[in-house]
Amino acid sequence: MGTVRTAVRVEGVVQGVGFRPFVYGLATGLGLTGLVGNDLDGVFVEVEGPEPAVSEFLLRLERDAPPLARIERVTARAIVPRREASFHIAASDHAGPRRTLVSADTATCADCLRELADLANRRSGYPFINCTNCGPRFTIVRDVPYDRPLTTMAEFAMCEQCAAEYHDPADRRFHAQPTCCPACGPRLTLHGHDRDHHDEGPAKADPLHAAAELLRQGKILAVKGLGGYHLAADAACEDAVAALRARKHREDKPFAVMAADLAAARRLAEVDDTAAALLASQARPIVLLPRHAHAQVATATAPGNRQLGIMLPYTPLHHLLLANLARPMVLTSGNVSDEPIVYRDDEARDRLATIADAFLVHDRAIHVRTDDSVARTFRGRPMLIRRSRGYVPEPITTTNGFPRPVLACGAELKNTFCLARGHHAFVSHHIGDLENAETLRSFTGGIEHFRRLFDIDPQVVAHDLHPEYLSTKYALELADNGHVDLQGVQHHHAHIASCLADNGYDAPSPVIGVAFDGTGYGTDGTIWGGEFLIADLVQFERGGHLALVPMPGGAAAIREPWRMAAAYLGETARDLDVATRHQERWAAVVAMARKGVNSPLTSSAGRLFDAAAAILGVRDTINYEGQAAVELEQLADPGEAGEYPAAVAAGQGPFQARGADLLYAVMEDRTRGVPAPVIAARFHRGVAALIEKGCLLLRDHHGLGTVALSGGVFQNSLLLHAAVTRLEARGFTVLLHSRVPCNDGGISLGQAVIAAARDRG
Ligand SMILES: [Zn+2]
Ligand SMILES: [Zn+2]
Ligand SMILES: [Zn+2]
Repeated sequence: MGTVRTAVRVEGVVQGVGFRPFVYGLATGLGLTGLVGNDLDGVFVEVEGPEPAVSEFLLRLERDAPPLARIERVTARAIVPRREASFHIAASDHAGPRRTLVSADTATCADCLRELADLANRRSGYPFINCTNCGPRFTIVRDVPYDRPLTTMAEFAMCEQCAAEYHDPADRRFHAQPTCCPACGPRLTLHGHDRDHHDEGPAKADPLHAAAELLRQGKILAVKGLGGYHLAADAACEDAVAALRARKHREDKPFAVMAADLAAARRLAEVDDTAAALLASQARPIVLLPRHAHAQVATATAPGNRQLGIMLPYTPLHHLLLANLARPMVLTSGNVSDEPIVYRDDEARDRLATIADAFLVHDRAIHVRTDDSVARTFRGRPMLIRRSRGYVPEPITTTNGFPRPVLACGAELKNTFCLARGHHAFVSHHIGDLENAETLRSFTGGIEHFRRLFDIDPQVVAHDLHPEYLSTKYALELADNGHVDLQGVQHHHAHIASCLADNGYDAPSPVIGVAFDGTGYGTDGTIWGGEFLIADLVQFERGGHLALVPMPGGAAAIREPWRMAAAYLGETARDLDVATRHQERWAAVVAMARKGVNSPLTSSAGRLFDAAAAILGVRDTINYEGQAAVELEQLADPGEAGEYPAAVAAGQGPFQARGADLLYAVMEDRTRGVPAPVIAARFHRGVAALIEKGCLLLRDHHGLGTVALSGGVFQNSLLLHAAVTRLEARGFTVLLHSRVPCNDGGISLGQAVIAAARDRG
């Protein structure tokens, strides 16, 4: 039988995921000779031997690939046999353009957990255990190719035993870049504000045990994690969680809880199969779940919220800390109010000193600040609300691709950016609200990092139309300084395009896009946010929108929802409790709105929800974006079947959906003493009915049967459920977000695919 030699190239997420040892094991098992190596394109292989064995190799290469590998393409071609004696691993090739993919950080695998608990193992109880199938990746990568010297593990020289495992093709730590052990790897220390305080005695002997003891005493710990510092407290301890809230200056926004395992999570909240799979997935996001009424969680964890954000441990450090504590802990980002999460040791000591009683830290640097991801489930599918640690930087693959490299700069709030090339859109980790110097640095530094990691030199730069967004200004500066083409993309068009890309929708026909959010720059000088668009990836037409209403005081109307109630209802509401609560200013604000003094016009769905929340006494002022709407959803009685009617006024141009009708109905029921949970539910269902009406009108005119729902308002699952049910009952195909957020975190992807579609011409 003849000997053949085949050169194979494997592209996708194939570095840092145990691919070379897998290939080595497979080839040697089949008696083949040749080589395997990493280069800037991914993995290259040459195998030589009898033809049937080589065929078998190619078959199993894809079928049996390691769990973390994402193979996107395998190409093979015959080459001349070389007759070498064995199979070996070739050195990495760093030259040339980079096309390889860096994998996301991955939760500790079952094999490592077994070793962690095995007293006979040399890594027993070692908080930094990892292997080719798990551990830190994106957060420690400084550059590509993904090799130890280019990660923050470069400072740790491997001991003899680790080096032997690292170089042994049969070992599961073969070429696992963060391989380490207690003898050679990062170390854990516990210290007080004064660094030497805990350096003696029990804390030095067993920092984890001492840290758990502090938590049990009601103390607050700063814990250095994977993508940044967290603040931890015993989740059941009222005083500790209340103190954490007070010291962090975070008034109402819920804290997440980390539970040891699924059983512990189930004691706190309802966990269905989809949620269980999501909780236990390699990405380990925070999952928003319906909490049990009797859940043993301090009141201050998620005040006034029927949901609880729960995550499972994703690093060995978390596993060990929870095992020592033996109950759930609050684990929230280490920052003061709205600042970005702290990730450098010096800034942690500075900025967390007034919050944390002690610091549980280690000496492995975090290269990229990466927040925990947040998800919920909807009808058996995950819905990401914040896509960050565990997901980033894995690309969203698009069918039509990007003719030229694109940078999309995203929106202002919940910013992400997106760099795209070929068929890959690399949506960044959560950057945050671009309103301070620190976040702006994360934004610009992040873009530089992604450009290097993925070797993308953008020729097209997409941006929001809002001239005051810092992301827009950044795009304009790039255009001033270099040869890039700018693409301005309307905010709500980007939302709909993002939803289309999320669904892999590539039909040429346009869809009905319903984009409901708080704020977006319109093309007519008004603030949009309750939009019905006829959209494809190139352009859109405004088919309809919520009727315009003044925002008395501009930004003040966003912070103080009662102003929106005044703007919508005016003097007719003078006897309502919301008006009497603001008696001294009600008439003035109503007059301001009517005369249009400092009262920009908006079609925002967010402001409509704000007004309803204020009328029902849910909230007159807010402490975080979208708070009034979130609490209104929490208040609503999910069993209520009634709804308020609202008219859609069609005429020349876009139709006007009369949101005010809903608020008059809310006012009437409020006056009649109908319970607030019933009113809140009828309002939600009324908004869903309004969406249905708008879509039916557009289907009649344009003959379109697909609806894409996007915008932050659709994080509201009560509304989403009601809207989807009605639309599907009418025969619409409904597209929803899953992999990227429906909120402004998804805007950059939408901008990128629109820029590419326009580029294709
Ligand atoms: Zn592992
Ligand atoms: Zn070692
Ligand atoms: Zn938006």
